[in-house]
Amino acid sequence: MTEVLNQLFIGGAWVDAADGATMPVDDPATGEILCHVADAGPKDARLAEEAAVQAQAEWARTAPRARSEILRRAHELILERTDELAHLMTSEMGKPLAEARGEVAYAAEFFRWFSEEAVRIDGGYGTLPDGRNRMLLSRRPVGPCLLITPWNFPLAMGTRKIGPAIAAGCTMVLKPAPQTPLSSLALAGILKEAGLPDGVLNVVTTSRAGEVCEPLLRGGRIRKLSFTGSTGVGRILLAQCADTVVRTSMELGGNAPFIVFDDADLDVAVDGAMVAKMRNMGEACTAANRFFVHRSIAEEFGRRLAERMGALVVGPGTRDGVDVGPLIDRTGRGKVEELVTDAVERGARVLVGGRTPEGPGCFYPPTVLTDVSPESRLMDTEIFGPVAAILTFDDEDEVLRRANDTPWGLVGYVFTQGLDRGLRVSEGLEVGMVGLNTGLVSNPAAPFGGVKQSGLGREGGRVGIEEFLEYQYVAVPVR
Ligand code: ADP
Repeated sequence: MTEVLNQLFIGGAWVDAADGATMPVDDPATGEILCHVADAGPKDARLAEEAAVQAQAEWARTAPRARSEILRRAHELILERTDELAHLMTSEMGKPLAEARGEVAYAAEFFRWFSEEAVRIDGGYGTLPDGRNRMLLSRRPVGPCLLITPWNFPLAMGTRKIGPAIAAGCTMVLKPAPQTPLSSLALAGILKEAGLPDGVLNVVTTSRAGEVCEPLLRGGRIRKLSFTGSTGVGRILLAQCADTVVRTSMELGGNAPFIVFDDADLDVAVDGAMVAKMRNMGEACTAANRFFVHRSIAEEFGRRLAERMGALVVGPGTRDGVDVGPLIDRTGRGKVEELVTDAVERGARVLVGGRTPEGPGCFYPPTVLTDVSPESRLMDTEIFGPVAAILTFDDEDEVLRRANDTPWGLVGYVFTQGLDRGLRVSEGLEVGMVGLNTGLVSNPAAPFGGVKQSGLGREGGRVGIEEFLEYQYVAVPVR
């Protein structure tokens, strides 16, 4: 592997934190320290903000084609370095190498998609209803942005925000999660190599997220926040944005229902469940959290799912043949353990898994629980781990009501061979995305996002760039 970047990236230069502070990055498969990176404080954040503010005007004037070409080159560089980036990601985050490679491809695709969008920002010219006034309509970058990303998709959550910001002509400060700073720093190195001008992207790694971000959000110079993380932190940030009316895109938590009707193709449903539950070891906001299975097929579905889950190989993500890596850290695993214990105490049966292994690393086995009580805590908590909780239902109205009985609304999964029923239930779900007979909805060309307390705005798709653009309208009377 080439040299690991571990400093702050400010104004196009690699620098240490002003007070020289560093923080450790752990390998969740061993619990050992991988390396140290700079630990930014408020002073560093100010410098990063200043660099972004200074670069904004010229960056906004840069030809869309030039911005597009930078993204395109970065897309290619990422793909060329797939193995290197995948190893880096696995070492800091834990996911198996095959999944890390998949994420590298997914992450790169956001840059290709937004390189294509950069040159399609259009305006308009029209006559107003009075017949006299004309309207000239143009699009402007919203301005310097703060991008805050989580640890579960260290590269793709970065490119999903950086891509549209670059395409729209915005400058930015990126604050990655403290658990996974290395992928973001590598990404900054790639963008520099691809020709991104100094100051357009600045990266501050820090263990003091609140101290670093709050002054920027309250300072009046950052014009936009794009955040992916928990609903709890999202609420705090929304409040901070209120004072200076900062525009926001919020990708928050989920509590996805996975509904299997009695007319579903069970092979398709079990395949879908494996993806919707086990992608990223269940550490995804799109992960199926509540399995509602029709009473007549629940036993068969549970048996087949348990068989598939039990056959998965758990181990360090770098080892060949491993399907399930460690969870991100001890806190994350502790939460999963508590949720399973609570469900079992309330009467759930463990079909497979459910027991924390001895030894180093934050491993937790693929687990299937059945006869789960609706009162269990995991019904209204994001599990964020490899645990499938099965409940039964009897009819369509009932399952829709129960599926929607949550403050979240990110994604839902529906399995049925009936087209009518599939569309009816999809429309009835209070969610931003539905997987109809599939366990995977994420795609750079589709608008990703949720309703209710799962967030505001969308990322990706044709609308992804809109989040980083303003309208300006010029009124022109024609005499
Ligand atoms: P998780 O529990 O999955 O780590 P969080 O919402 O805590 O989710 O974290 C998502 C991102 O938000 C991370 O980059 C984290 O450092 C950041 N974060 C957490 N608390 C704050 C805060 N008070 N202000 C700004 N960013 C924060």
